[in-house]
Amino acid sequence: MNTTYGSGFTVREAVFNLERNCFLLGISAVLIDMHCHSVFSQDNNLEPADLIDRAVQLGLDGVCFTEHYSVDASRPVERIERPDGFLIFRGVEISTDVGHVLVYGLSDDSWNVWGRNLHLNLAEIMEIVHALGGICIPAHPFRGWESFGERIYTIKGLDGIETHNGVDGPLQQRSAMEAALKLGLPSIGGSDCHHLNQVGRTFTEFKDPISSMADIIVQIKAGTCRGKNHE
Ligand SMILES: [Zn+2]
Ligand SMILES: [Zn+2]
Repeated sequence: MNTTYGSGFTVREAVFNLERNCFLLGISAVLIDMHCHSVFSQDNNLEPADLIDRAVQLGLDGVCFTEHYSVDASRPVERIERPDGFLIFRGVEISTDVGHVLVYGLSDDSWNVWGRNLHLNLAEIMEIVHALGGICIPAHPFRGWESFGERIYTIKGLDGIETHNGVDGPLQQRSAMEAALKLGLPSIGGSDCHHLNQVGRTFTEFKDPISSMADIIVQIKAGTCRGKNHE
């Protein structure tokens, strides 16, 4: 039997439409600020506990710490108290010879044989990260410094683009969105916060539930996510 509902939808179609509408309305989506710096980046005074409190106040579901140069640097944030269900993840922002790259899915710094304050070779980093099961996403690609710029169109193997960076302006965001569309790459967002009032300015909306970094990577690869500006 193929029961129909409302204006002739089958159950399967009705569920699909409901899910799609919920995503478009942001009802069931998971909102995570995917690009956060704290004191552990050694270039700011933002305490991770304050950063988390602010993200909770803003109604986000989680944050991802992406300290400069090191995955291990942010390890202490895992012990910070947070409300039930609030998600805390850790990635890293790597300085490469092409521009800053957000990397998710690495568990430690075993990849990092070069140390701080060096610009690593992008191709080598991408090869290492992918071999370890991680993903590479250019950060603030059109900021003009430490950024890919038009070179983004020539580089193969990127896993997405940070289209919504909280420090970038509208023109930079628009160029990043254009690149994501032309290259067919998923869009993510993160505030790039170095100060409390920057937390959550932009974030990533994920369509499906998330409980682990593996879930995040699956959704980014599937493109069931998008960068957004906080209203
Ligand atoms: Zn950066
Ligand atoms: Zn950053």
